[in-house]
Amino acid sequence: MYIGIDVGGTAVKAGVVDGEGRVLSRAEVKSEPASDAAMLRAMYSAMLRAMEGAGLSKDDVSAVGIGSSGICDNAKGTIIYSGNIAYDNTAVREFFSERINARIDVENDVNCAAIGEYALYGGGADSFVFVALGTGVGGGIIINKRLYSGLHGGAGEVGHMTLVPGGRLCGCGARGCWEAYASVSALISDARERGGCFSALPAIDGKAVFDAAERGLPEAVEVRDGWIRRVAEGVCSLVNILRPEKLVIGGAVSRQGETLLAPIRRYVAENAYANDVPGIGMTEISAARLMGDAGIVGAAMLHKLV
Ligand SMILES: [Zn+2]
Repeated sequence: MYIGIDVGGTAVKAGVVDGEGRVLSRAEVKSEPASDAAMLRAMYSAMLRAMEGAGLSKDDVSAVGIGSSGICDNAKGTIIYSGNIAYDNTAVREFFSERINARIDVENDVNCAAIGEYALYGGGADSFVFVALGTGVGGGIIINKRLYSGLHGGAGEVGHMTLVPGGRLCGCGARGCWEAYASVSALISDARERGGCFSALPAIDGKAVFDAAERGLPEAVEVRDGWIRRVAEGVCSLVNILRPEKLVIGGAVSRQGETLLAPIRRYVAENAYANDVPGIGMTEISAARLMGDAGIVGAAMLHKLV
């Protein structure tokens, strides 16, 4: 049995997961983002509760995976930094290894989600890219069936490639990043800025924009389609750089299915490098399937791929 721990700024979720990616028990404790020592205790306590839920002892667990926001160095077993949690080269593997005799892996949460999708639904592809559209835009890259982590685990920050030189200010401090245009936060601010039918809505989220566009409200169609176009432009760059066999789009907005995917596929088919050369394969683009469990399942699957 494997344990996956999904560490976020508000909650730490843990689950016992079997080899097929089924979640057998779950537990959740409050996050302690202000102190890394308190955060480690929260992770450990979430793990123990999940084990208790499945009736497991420590001897039943062969691997524990920890997924967190931020830059994680799995070679050293540390979490170097996160914007919303007070990590400071926090020695996560050492902490867990002192308490349980199992393999311990530490990875960025989006990399974990990528690994979960790949391990369960990747069909053994050699190359695979996962893009998470949410508050930001995250990514996970699998090359030759292994996670590509880069120097100190810093790879896969696809949201910070430049889409518009000198464009919108991004949360990272740079201008024109893909994230500033293609995140769901950007979709929501596009809608607010557009006004019109959106002025009447008490709260706007990604789904509200898609729903309004579905009802045929012209300003909603304009905002939705403009946003999808920005998503597609970044996806096309990723296809040109990596030409993965598969590219999976995750985040709650991926539940929009073909409404989101069809225009992205069309854009990539029309604009990717050598798109019209016979015999050059095109990346298969689809929506994520794991959804809410992606963090836990992906962390539990880390031992397979990193
Ligand atoms: Zn950025």
